[in-house]
Amino acid sequence: MTLKELKVGQRGLVTSVKGQGALRQHILDMGMIPGTEVKVEKLAPLGDPMELRVRDYQLTIRLSDAENIGVEAIPGEEAPKSQARRRSVTEHPGLGEMGKFHPKGTGNPLPEGEVLTFALVGNQNSGKTTLFNQLTGANQHVGNFPGVTVDRKDGAIRGYPNTLVTDLPGIYSMSPYSGEELVSRRFVLEEKPKAIINIVDATSIERSLYLTMQLLEMDVPMVVALNMMDELTGNGGSVDVNAMESLLGVPVMPISAVKNSGVAELIEHAVHVARYQEKPLRQDFCAAGAVHQSLHAISHLIEDHARAAGLPVRFSACKLAEGDSLMADQLDLDANEKDGIEHILVQMEKERGLDRSAAMADMRFSFIQSVCEKCVTRPRESRERQRSQRADRILTGKYTAIPVFVAIMALVFYLTFNVIGAFLQGLLEDGIGRFTQWVDGAMTQGGVNPVVHDLIVGGILEGVGSVLSFLPIIVTLFFFLSLLEDSGYIARVAFFMDTLLRKLGLSGRSIVPLLIGFGCTVPAVMSTRTLPSDRDRRMTILLTPFMSCTAKLPIYAFFVNAFFPAQGGLVMTGLYVFGILMGILAALVCKKTLFKGEAVPFVMELPNYRLPGLRSVAQILWEKARDFLQRAFSVILVATVVVWFLKSFDIRLNMVSDTSQSLLAGAAGLLAPILAPLGLGDWRVCTALISGFMAKESVVSVLRVLFGGEGGVAAAMSPLAAMCLLVFSLLYTPCVAAVAS
Ligand code: GDP
Ligand code: MG
Repeated sequence: MTLKELKVGQRGLVTSVKGQGALRQHILDMGMIPGTEVKVEKLAPLGDPMELRVRDYQLTIRLSDAENIGVEAIPGEEAPKSQARRRSVTEHPGLGEMGKFHPKGTGNPLPEGEVLTFALVGNQNSGKTTLFNQLTGANQHVGNFPGVTVDRKDGAIRGYPNTLVTDLPGIYSMSPYSGEELVSRRFVLEEKPKAIINIVDATSIERSLYLTMQLLEMDVPMVVALNMMDELTGNGGSVDVNAMESLLGVPVMPISAVKNSGVAELIEHAVHVARYQEKPLRQDFCAAGAVHQSLHAISHLIEDHARAAGLPVRFSACKLAEGDSLMADQLDLDANEKDGIEHILVQMEKERGLDRSAAMADMRFSFIQSVCEKCVTRPRESRERQRSQRADRILTGKYTAIPVFVAIMALVFYLTFNVIGAFLQGLLEDGIGRFTQWVDGAMTQGGVNPVVHDLIVGGILEGVGSVLSFLPIIVTLFFFLSLLEDSGYIARVAFFMDTLLRKLGLSGRSIVPLLIGFGCTVPAVMSTRTLPSDRDRRMTILLTPFMSCTAKLPIYAFFVNAFFPAQGGLVMTGLYVFGILMGILAALVCKKTLFKGEAVPFVMELPNYRLPGLRSVAQILWEKARDFLQRAFSVILVATVVVWFLKSFDIRLNMVSDTSQSLLAGAAGLLAPILAPLGLGDWRVCTALISGFMAKESVVSVLRVLFGGEGGVAAAMSPLAAMCLLVFSLLYTPCVAAVAS
């Protein structure tokens, strides 16, 4: 039978994993290999995808993918978890015990003054960001990895100015499955960090060590940080760290990133292995047998190619054995050698009785299992998991999931736009207003040239100031969203919304940016960075502007008051719904044309609910604020100066007092014939729409100024034209800040 046929609550033993390519590799990498026990925990409220328990963690998979996985049902109840069997006596090895894992300790293979670069690598939700913030404190900067829009964060370790840690995206394997995996792989292979800090989630240690095994093959000095130790020991589990060190051949440090315990020691070990270039003592983890032999044979065959290409031999051999085409290209093998390797692998598959990818995954997981048997005392069913299960009964329950989700989002928006954000925005607007007045007064007194005066007060302070006043709303919205994200709730939303979004050619993960789009398109676009494929990212970005942002609300409100006071609610709701419908239509068109192909598969971990650390939330807020400020003072500054110029001067570059004589009015006049068929041929309306490109709110203020108040607008336009203007405002280009992001 297949996994799809397994009932909720039933357990099964994986017998085969069909399918092909990157997705199959990913499923194997997540630990679903023949012989693994899985349990179906629940189906999403809309019936698809399903939630599984495998290797002590929760995994989601679509039914169409589950159909490719053969299982054998296991009858009977699950045996109760065995209680702690034994406890390790050593708490953890300190630096004082450095023996075999720091064999060098003298001599310095690196040139004096060389910056010690570290790559921080680990699974998603393993606590990377939390650890990164502990390591670097405030001295970090954010950029993008070259060529891709994936965040890259760098920073020096506190107290070690000559170091640089890079927080790599969260990954599960070094297979080129997602953009993140490619980025991380390229980073380690090409930028050659002096050492790797591998963060391992001690509460799902089997899955996490899978990545560790591949990192060891990279032949780069490395330390393992066993994170979440507080949670593990709190539930009666423990790890014999010394035994694990000798099995893995690298220093292992138990830490808790949120509690900042063990981090100082981790730093000492990391700096030590980097400075003395102590490479992992072991790379060969397979028991004697077909896989072992084939890997050795391949290693010999490609050794010189790998050295010539500057690639680690063992890693290259393993990737070739997995059938990784990227590696075959990088090694530049000739036809003969490729034949030889193919021959070796076919032989291995025959002897092993598994295909190459499954055999490699099986080799790694077998070793990991033996390590865990020797040195991990498994905790009893953890409190965190029980808590998560209880919460999930409601939060992803069949009938409750979607109503609760709607309620949570409504609350977030209410708090952001009506309570906290609005209050802060008011304060900031006040502050900016006072500052503007003060500058205005000072310049008048100082007798500054009136053109410069107007540029600064009427252009820059007005324009940048009005954008700046959005900062509190954005920061507040991100505060709530990062709480939801870090706690693990957003992963659940993606889980139960996947079926709906899949009909549009997207995956459940796109729900986040689309929701933020109702607040503000700028942070919505920024949040698409977490999507795993370029296709999904672009398509989602194109759809976010269809979600009416809050800056359009003043336009709606103004026209509803002036023209449709009786049907206000209907018109408002109609506009929002119309935007969503157009978005759906656009998605369907995109799916058929621009973005053919499949949305990312939905094989995703559902982490336990965790309380996010205050520190990382604060860090995110600071990053968002900085991002936004940078934009406000670059793109938006330039744009406001240009608009100020166009509205202040006429074609002969004389300053005008009446805006209708200005370059802007002239330009708007050019636009008027184009918009005339829509009933929007008035140059004043065109001007308002153009300035709406700078910031949507300004449509209303410009109309008021140019028509001389609300009454003027109502007299000059027919209700039909007003309706057209509303729809046009809803659908035309998003503001310059959104376009820039
Ligand atoms: P990332 O996805 O790898 O960057 O992981 P984060 O740093 O965002 O952490 C994911 C969640 O795990 C957050 O809610 C953290 O507060 C939590 N977390 C991180 N480290 C620890 C730890 O040592 N113990 C516990 N109990 N929770 C942690
Ligand atoms: Mg993170």
